[in-house]
Amino acid sequence: MGTPLPEDRRGAPLRAVVTGSDSGIGKAVAVAFASGGVDVGITFHEDADGAAHTAEQVRDLGVKAAVRRLDLGDLPTAAAVVDELAEELGGIDVLVNCAGTGTATKAVDMDFDTWRHVLSVDLDGAFLCSQRAAKHMIAAGKGGRIINITSVHEHAPRVGAAPYCAAKAGLGALTKVLALELAEHDITVNSVAPGEISTPMTGQEDVDPRTQPRPGVPLGRPGHAKEVAAVVAFLATPSAGYVTGASFVVDGGMLLMGPQASGMLTDSNWREP
Ligand code: NAD
Repeated sequence: MGTPLPEDRRGAPLRAVVTGSDSGIGKAVAVAFASGGVDVGITFHEDADGAAHTAEQVRDLGVKAAVRRLDLGDLPTAAAVVDELAEELGGIDVLVNCAGTGTATKAVDMDFDTWRHVLSVDLDGAFLCSQRAAKHMIAAGKGGRIINITSVHEHAPRVGAAPYCAAKAGLGALTKVLALELAEHDITVNSVAPGEISTPMTGQEDVDPRTQPRPGVPLGRPGHAKEVAAVVAFLATPSAGYVTGASFVVDGGMLLMGPQASGMLTDSNWREP
């Protein structure tokens, strides 16, 4: 925490928008940015109190917080929230696409609406928010950073998570295309791919990951949201200025385990979500 963030070359304060920052990883990212002196635009879907709490933590660190409700199931209209936040903060230098949702249903049993909803929130939403943010960054002419929170499922599949895996892999590919297209504007685009992190999404809100043994993960435990936020914060620093189109896996070594874990499984329970 407290990682120095990129200095605006014209001396104005930096502004970041973090979608899905009412809880979990997004909240940790918002607080990490604020502790580096960055004003933060916060979005929530259902948890207005969570967003208010994030805003309070951000303001306690001496920077501005702006809050909006964002429903990425309601596109393309909802993406206008990025414009609103940019206007309230006086611009946007960093966008973190962190909002996300998933499923636990096998593909053959999945209804189309569920498939579409996950694609809408996890992929279409990130596309439209990135497009809006990039337009502001290009117009301001000062470069910028777009950081997409994907998942280890950007790189490897999981039973029951067809739309999530398709969306996160798609977001990884979108990251690389945007990195190519926005480089001429000095905008870098990278993804951060977490493994299991203790957040509401994994049923571990306020759980200390060090108390949760995970023998199948090389580092032996889930990750803390702050451990993902630290990598996101680094990607927004001047030190990361030459990094673009990359995917940073933050998973305690989980993705390395494929072949070895396969050899250790003694039953077929993995076939069910
Ligand atoms: P979380 O439940 O705390 O956060 C999910 C966020 O998504 C919330 O802030 C919520 O407001 C937002 N959201 C959900 N539906 C939305 C919608 N329809 N419109 C707009 N926003 C919506 O969980 P988290 O673990 O902090 O998840 C944050 C991101 O990290 C997600 O993209 C998730 O896929 C990714 N991720 C999490 C883990 C993990 O193990 N926790 C692992 C890999 C990737």
